[in-house]
Amino acid sequence: MHFGSAGSAHTSIAAIVGTGLGGGVIEAGLVVKGASGMAGELGHVHIPMAGLLADDQPIPRCNCGFVGDAESVASLTGIENNLLPLLAHPVPDPPPDEAGRQVRAYGEAGDEMALRIFEQQAMALGRLFTIAANYTDPNVYFLGGGVVESTPAFRDSFRGKVREHTVLRDEQTRLASFAVVPDLDMAGAPGALPWRL
Ligand SMILES: [Zn+2]
Repeated sequence: MHFGSAGSAHTSIAAIVGTGLGGGVIEAGLVVKGASGMAGELGHVHIPMAGLLADDQPIPRCNCGFVGDAESVASLTGIENNLLPLLAHPVPDPPPDEAGRQVRAYGEAGDEMALRIFEQQAMALGRLFTIAANYTDPNVYFLGGGVVESTPAFRDSFRGKVREHTVLRDEQTRLASFAVVPDLDMAGAPGALPWRL
């Protein structure tokens, strides 16, 4: 959709931040599926934690059993399990996932603690995209999911921070762009359909 009829000549990576951290890798217009169908599990890629966590912040644990992977920071579950307890924001015993959504609302309102959480998430996504830059070297890095279903100002600011934390070589900087997926939370549906028909 992003490149129109030129899609088959382009490569992209998408990180979709929701309850977990979903992902997708497109190489020359085709979804990279892998031998067992597990390719594109970006959430469970380990990322460097040095300089991302506060001094007294334990290495975050993911539901998959890994410690220090991208989803352990950049997901609603990551916020609730790993980031929120540290920052001790007064969110009164919310149901699962609700804590993360409340933090997003705080962030949109400019709350300092919430913005620290989103800074860590943006840094985690930037480090994940830096791995992608050295792996498939995509034309475009997509962000999607609830984290971009926010106010335009918050969305643009978040995308800018992810870009800031993604280290690209000069050759890549000239070609690459950072975009929000066009269909937000529904982006996966049209992407998956051709494989089902
Ligand atoms: Zn994981």
